[in-house]
Amino acid sequence: MQELFQLSADSMQGRKTGTAGGELARNYLINKLQNIGVPAYVPGYTQEFDYLINKKTGERRKGVNVLGYVEGFSNQETIVISAHYDHVGMKDSTTIYNGADDNASGTVALLALARYFTTNQPDNNIIFAFFDGEEDGLQGAKHFMQSVVVDSSFIKLNINMDMVGRGDKNEIYAVGTYFHPELKLYVKEAAKGKSIKVLFGRDDPSKKLNWINSSDHAPFHKAGVPFIYFGVDDHADYHKPTDTAEKIKAVFYLETIAMIKDTVKHLDANLRDINVGK
Ligand SMILES: [Zn+2]
Repeated sequence: MQELFQLSADSMQGRKTGTAGGELARNYLINKLQNIGVPAYVPGYTQEFDYLINKKTGERRKGVNVLGYVEGFSNQETIVISAHYDHVGMKDSTTIYNGADDNASGTVALLALARYFTTNQPDNNIIFAFFDGEEDGLQGAKHFMQSVVVDSSFIKLNINMDMVGRGDKNEIYAVGTYFHPELKLYVKEAAKGKSIKVLFGRDDPSKKLNWINSSDHAPFHKAGVPFIYFGVDDHADYHKPTDTAEKIKAVFYLETIAMIKDTVKHLDANLRDINVGK
């Protein structure tokens, strides 16, 4: 909870990609990963990229992904767990968009998972991907999937977290099992005995309301990598300056993190038997 408050504090200025606030957030994460002892997946943890933001003027923006890594015990396959750390910044240099749920919540959850799997070695390799540029169109995840440091054929699974803190309804969606129903079992197992409700759905392409392309799991899906995206329903504070940390209830948030951690644990333990992917 302390990390959630720190990452969504006013001093982070809304964590917009390419700004001082974005850099502050990035340095905060790198410092945490170093302290936890998470190995870097790329030198200095950072993967830089840039992208066009204005077709008329040709203006480009620079983003930086932060990538941690833990080697698997039997080193079979690679799971990428992701969350975007950028948000939409400020308006008129006075209004700060803190982005506590979107997506300090997923970012801090990813730190918690990195902490857990660094001391409890998984069977498979895990990349902890803190993506930048999500709010500009999933730019960090797109770059990650195209980049030379990653051979996407080695990636067996993506677990993406975006807005996992707001338990207004005490429920969270696990999206993506429409394409891989065999993954449902592991989420259900992890949800057992938890005080939160885990829902499936929002992933039927024939339905208008679907979240297939709503966050960083989309470039993985496009490349044929199975994904589970965890996120809560939209709320009144979505992309508003009122998306603040005090609206996130610890009971829901911590239980959600535990459920996602257990999902990854079950998937990791059974990954070689799960017939997913290409
Ligand atoms: Zn988001």
